[in-house]
Order: sequence, then structure tokens, then C-alpha cells
Amino acid sequence: MMKNLLIAFLCALALPVVAQPAKPAVIAHRGASGYLPEHTVAAKVLAHAMGADFLEQDVVLTKDDVPIVMHDTQLETISDVAQRFPDRKRANGHYYALDFTLAEIKQLRANERVNAKTGQAVYPDRFPAGKASFQISTLEEELQLIQGLNKTCRRVVGIYPEIKQPAWHRKAGHDISRIVLPILRRYGYATKQDPCWVQCFEPDEVKRIRTELGWEGHLLLLLSANRKHPDGTSAEAWFTPAGMKELAKVADGIGPELGAIVSGKSKASRKVTDFVNDAHAAKLTVHPYTLRADDLPKFADSMDDAIEVLFAEARVDGFFTDFPDVVVKWLGARGMR
Ligand code: CA
Repeated sequence: MMKNLLIAFLCALALPVVAQPAKPAVIAHRGASGYLPEHTVAAKVLAHAMGADFLEQDVVLTKDDVPIVMHDTQLETISDVAQRFPDRKRANGHYYALDFTLAEIKQLRANERVNAKTGQAVYPDRFPAGKASFQISTLEEELQLIQGLNKTCRRVVGIYPEIKQPAWHRKAGHDISRIVLPILRRYGYATKQDPCWVQCFEPDEVKRIRTELGWEGHLLLLLSANRKHPDGTSAEAWFTPAGMKELAKVADGIGPELGAIVSGKSKASRKVTDFVNDAHAAKLTVHPYTLRADDLPKFADSMDDAIEVLFAEARVDGFFTDFPDVVVKWLGARGMR
């Protein structure tokens, strides 16, 4: 009897210590964008109903300094701007949100993302481009929508705003962070107790948001797949334990592309990298991007396979996905919701 107990005890000791977060975060990337045009009200409502933990907002400014929710600084891939305002493109052929007032942007119809040159859908199996009727939302409209849904559905879903291209905005005379952060605070997102993560690709701005602008809520640095900052300089330092330790002085999290977490061009050759362990050692939360059912990472042969390796093997704290329902279902089946 004692011997059996001893064996059981020793077996328990031999189990790997899995520091899995209690509740991994399902972050709806641009809403449930696998099903409805990105960043539309419909995409956000569906993601909320699907059980996502956070709904992402990409934020850019209009000419009259109103933060709006869209991914690019340019309008032509997700709206009918070229038909409605054909003479408003810049010399480089792009239509910038920053050149349009909110009143003008509200005249546009938003659509599923298309390649502006070919007119073809970027994801052909998704919502048909140009069908139904969608608009571009302001950040405030979106926060009101989410808080309204939180009230009626009796479930708090967080927000995950990304400050888009702050250096570019500032160069054009628009201080986007200084405009967005007070709005977040006014809607009750101010501290790390509040369900909000602010994200940005620019490390100088992340530092500025924490220090000069006094942001006290969660803050995450995004890292691009090419390991360069938006200004073209190397971002390699942030992939090292020393860089992560440095980052942890101002940020709470780090968001690389999935390939930084799991390397390999096939399921057979995949390997979990040191990234998550290094980040966790620096006390950084890890939220990589972006898992898509219709554009799977090469290291996985299905959504479930990708979710499995990310949560069970790599032990990420959550990730961005265009298909939040699939991730919620996977977690639910394992008693993790
Ligand atoms: Ca984003």
C-alpha cells in the first residue's frame, strides 16, 4: 500500500510542470473576420456571440482627428472609396483615411477585403465583397457597441485596440496615441484591472505610451514577421531574453507572428521555439497573431492541430484568430472555458 502511494507520488512528481494560463485568451482578430467583413459591426457582434474574450480594434485617424476602426491607413481595399471619391487619391494611387473627414468616411460602404489592383477577394471563401451594407465605425461607436453587448449578454468581452502607425500619423501632424488613450480612459479602460490591451508595432511609441502618456493599462509590443520595425530597423533584439527583459520594463506582453512560436514548414518538421519560455521568464504575456482556418500556418495540418500545438505545447497565453468560434470550441471541449 505504502509502496503504491510512493509510486503514485513519484509519478506525480515526474509529470511535466505545465504553466498553462488558467484561461487562454481568444482574441477575435478584426472581429469574426473569417465570416464577415473585417472590423464591421456585424463582425464584432458575431465574435461577441461566439464567445471571444477580446475584440480587436485597429485604429487610424480621419482628417478631423476622429479615431476610426480599420486596419490600413488606406481605404481602397475595404471600401468603395475609389468609386465614390475618384479624384481624392494621392500621387501614389492610395486613398488615405487621413485625407477624409469623418462625414466623408461615413458615406463609404465597407466591404470584404479585396486586392485593390485586381479587385479579387483576398480570401475567396469569405463573405462576398460588395454584398449587404456595412460602414466604417468610429472607435467610440465600437466601444459603445461592445459595452452595450456586454450589458445585454451579461458577459464582459474586452477590447484590444492597436494604435496604427503612430510615427506616420505624427509626421503628418496627428498625435494618434494622445487622441486614443483619453477615449479609452473615458470608457472605463484605464488600469490593468480593466479588460483592455493596447498594442502597437512601434517600440518607441510603446515606451512613450507608458511613460510620457501615462498609460496604466495592459500594453503589448507587436513584432512583424520580417523581424523589422516599421521604420525598417532590426527588431531582432526583442526576440532575445535580454530584449524581452528590457521590454518588460514598459510593456506587459509581446505579440509575434505565429512562426516565431512554432518553426517549421510542415507538421513533421515543426519545433516549438524558446520564444514563449523566454517571454514568460521575463514576465511577458504572449499573444501571437494570426490563426486562420483558410490560411493555416505551414506547421499545422488543421485548425485543431494548430490550436493544440500553440496551447498545449508552446503554452501561449492566447492568440489572435479570424475564427474565434473554433478556438472557443477547442477550449470548451477540454474544460478550459
Ligand atoms: Ca491589428
